[in-house]
Amino acid sequence: MTTGVNRVVIAGTGFVGSSYAYALVNQGITEELVLVDVNQEKAEGEVMDLNHGRFFYESPSKVWNGHYHDCKEADIVCITAGVSQTDEETRLSAVEKNTEIVKSIVDDVMAHGFNGIFLVSTNPVDIITQATWKFSGLPKERVIGSGTLLDTARYLHMLGEYFTVDPKSISGYIVGEHGDSQVAALSNVAIGGKNVMDIVNTSDKYKLKDLEDIAVNVRNAADIVIEKKGSTYYGIGAGLARITKAILKNENTVLPVSALLDGEYGFHDIYTGVPAIINRQGVKEIIELDLNKEEQDKLTSSIEVLRSTMKPLLKL
Ligand code: NAD
Repeated sequence: MTTGVNRVVIAGTGFVGSSYAYALVNQGITEELVLVDVNQEKAEGEVMDLNHGRFFYESPSKVWNGHYHDCKEADIVCITAGVSQTDEETRLSAVEKNTEIVKSIVDDVMAHGFNGIFLVSTNPVDIITQATWKFSGLPKERVIGSGTLLDTARYLHMLGEYFTVDPKSISGYIVGEHGDSQVAALSNVAIGGKNVMDIVNTSDKYKLKDLEDIAVNVRNAADIVIEKKGSTYYGIGAGLARITKAILKNENTVLPVSALLDGEYGFHDIYTGVPAIINRQGVKEIIELDLNKEEQDKLTSSIEVLRSTMKPLLKL
């Protein structure tokens, strides 16, 4: 795996891959960054553009347009390749096309001796992460999806606006599918350690209905951005960089990612969005939130959506 120099390979240099690359170099998170895409010209153009900003970055990263043989010495291979959701499609409808694309990438990466961590954001991300785990044969800890990281960031942002509090002072998670069946774990949201339900129950200003509306707005956020500008990429690019930093710097940070459940929340053998401790080994531990009955039932439905979609595809 590692040579002592941090190396990230990005497979797919479209909107998401290039936004992630920009976040990585801008924040000086990785020492070496390799861009790979079937569209060679696109990858070359992105490398040139990124290198032209090198003078201004936090610390210089070496960036080049490479090949899958560069994965042998990579710490992380991030899969951002794939077709995007259009405004008529759900994320799940892109599943077949993206499974094929990801299989070809994972086979190629593994054939070149990769032994690091796969990070996946291609949609539908929970299913594509499960496929990556299955195709790669790597331990579950070393195959991670971006899961509900972006949804959680949107949730904390909107809650922060509502309560006029820095989102970093709020803890809370969206769990389950990165998609329409996602679950806002409202019973666990806290501001400065104070449970949000206690705040709502003792306030004339803040209402439970508003918080329920925020969860709906989080779920619809991607569709609105796609309607307005075609696709979403800055948020997920920054989020992937955050996971990458937690891995490379061995942070033991809790982030909501798509991880393989092995009895947690009462489910087995399914990737879905849950908070987890992330470090140099990948997923160190999944955190089991104490969900209320309604949230647990919604999570069960979300898992059912994922299972029924991936069953024919992955022959589980
Ligand atoms: P895009 O069309 O801009 O980029 C996709 C890139 O993948 C293209 O450059 C294409 O040439 C490349 N590609 C296709 N097949 C390939 C292969 N076999 N090997 C290497 N590269 C290949 O799309 P985008 O907007 O960057 O979105 C990419 C994926 O990310 C989509 O599946 C999208 O739904 C997903 N996405 C996920 C999140 C999330 O939160 N997980 C957020 C936004 C987008």
